[in-house]
Amino acid sequence: MASHGKHCHVLDLEIAVNRILATLPAPQSERIGLNEAAGSVLLESIDAPVDLPPFDNSSMDGYALRAADVAGASTANPVRLRWRGRIAAGEIPSEKLGTGECIRLFTGAPLPSDADAVVMQEDTRVDGDTVLVLDAVRPGENVRLQGEDIRRGARLTEAGNEITAGLIGLLGATGIETVQAARRPVVGLVATGSELVTAGQMLTPGQIYESNRAMLATLVKQAGGTAKTLPLVRDTLAETQAALATAFQECDIVITSGGVSVGEMDFVKAAFESLGGELQFWQVAMRPGKPFVFGRWKGKYLFGLPGNPVSAFVTFWLLARPALRKWQGAKQTSAPSQPSILGEAVSNPGARRHFMRMRFDAEGKAFSAGKQASHVLSSLALAEGLLDLPAGAQLAAGTPVRVLRFR
Ligand code: AMP
Ligand code: MG
Repeated sequence: MASHGKHCHVLDLEIAVNRILATLPAPQSERIGLNEAAGSVLLESIDAPVDLPPFDNSSMDGYALRAADVAGASTANPVRLRWRGRIAAGEIPSEKLGTGECIRLFTGAPLPSDADAVVMQEDTRVDGDTVLVLDAVRPGENVRLQGEDIRRGARLTEAGNEITAGLIGLLGATGIETVQAARRPVVGLVATGSELVTAGQMLTPGQIYESNRAMLATLVKQAGGTAKTLPLVRDTLAETQAALATAFQECDIVITSGGVSVGEMDFVKAAFESLGGELQFWQVAMRPGKPFVFGRWKGKYLFGLPGNPVSAFVTFWLLARPALRKWQGAKQTSAPSQPSILGEAVSNPGARRHFMRMRFDAEGKAFSAGKQASHVLSSLALAEGLLDLPAGAQLAAGTPVRVLRFR
């Protein structure tokens, strides 16, 4: 390890994240269709090209009328109007509406310009070529006014925002077909460890099933990346070098798991440097996950996560995920944090900051998700977020906290 002495300083998490974010390039922009845009990061601000709604229209099936004509109408005292025709959604008004008249129309149909309200069908009764109105309506009642949702020229959304289903609905309603969005990074997933085998094979003594690549692929997709699962790598320098060389050829970002500790079987750092990679730092002051490597290779990036599944998850979440978001130009790079109240006492007797796996009960109170050792997956599967507990912290039940939510 002597050759890596300059990298052995243990960094604070915030400093580590800032150093990573500072090295990332500007996002690459591409034009994509709205129907493939969900989850991408928008790279342009968009103003409404039209009013929404584009014209005054009815929010009900009913009759367009002049509110003044039916003032005081009730079931006991109905007002009779002449019925002048009908307008379906998609049609345009052809008739003028005179005093004492009404026009049948349907939800979304344009309002005739001389009508000022719509009485809903349920408050009327048809009687030959007249309509009995059984309730008064206010001017503007059951009318959706042009531009009341969005005015033409209003800012709909800004660069750096994630494209959600609701935003796609809004953009689609204003007639927008394509948007300028960030290219998604191809993220190669490399798992190192001679003890690892893939599911479907029998375990021989000393072997375990490899689980980090599938878990990390899920996290990568949730962070907007395209995950590429690469073959397992045994603990030799040559295999690790070959695997990293291929990974960097095929991917924008490479995430490895395992092989970044202090043992003589940990080859990721040495292999990376032998390929010309520049290690930026190693080791972050946190538990789980102290061994963690960040490196650069010709405009591409290495995240070397520890092999323990929980450590890999937590270091991905706190260090690699913000980087994937920034790579895509997202304004918000950190995880959302949820205010909560501790449902039980928790403590961190250790000397390192602990990110504790937490779950919420039905009332939203936060509890430990179970055993907290970094190989324990049962509590990770139950956990909904992480609680940042400083070294030596002792928090009583009832303490207000913020939990970094996974979803
Ligand atoms: P390492 O960081 O390589 O020292 O691995 C730490 C622990 O995590 C060891 O118990 C490994 O067997 C385990 N481990 C490493 N990689 C994986 C993986 N991809 N899937 C499941 N367990 C792993
Ligand atoms: Mg290993």
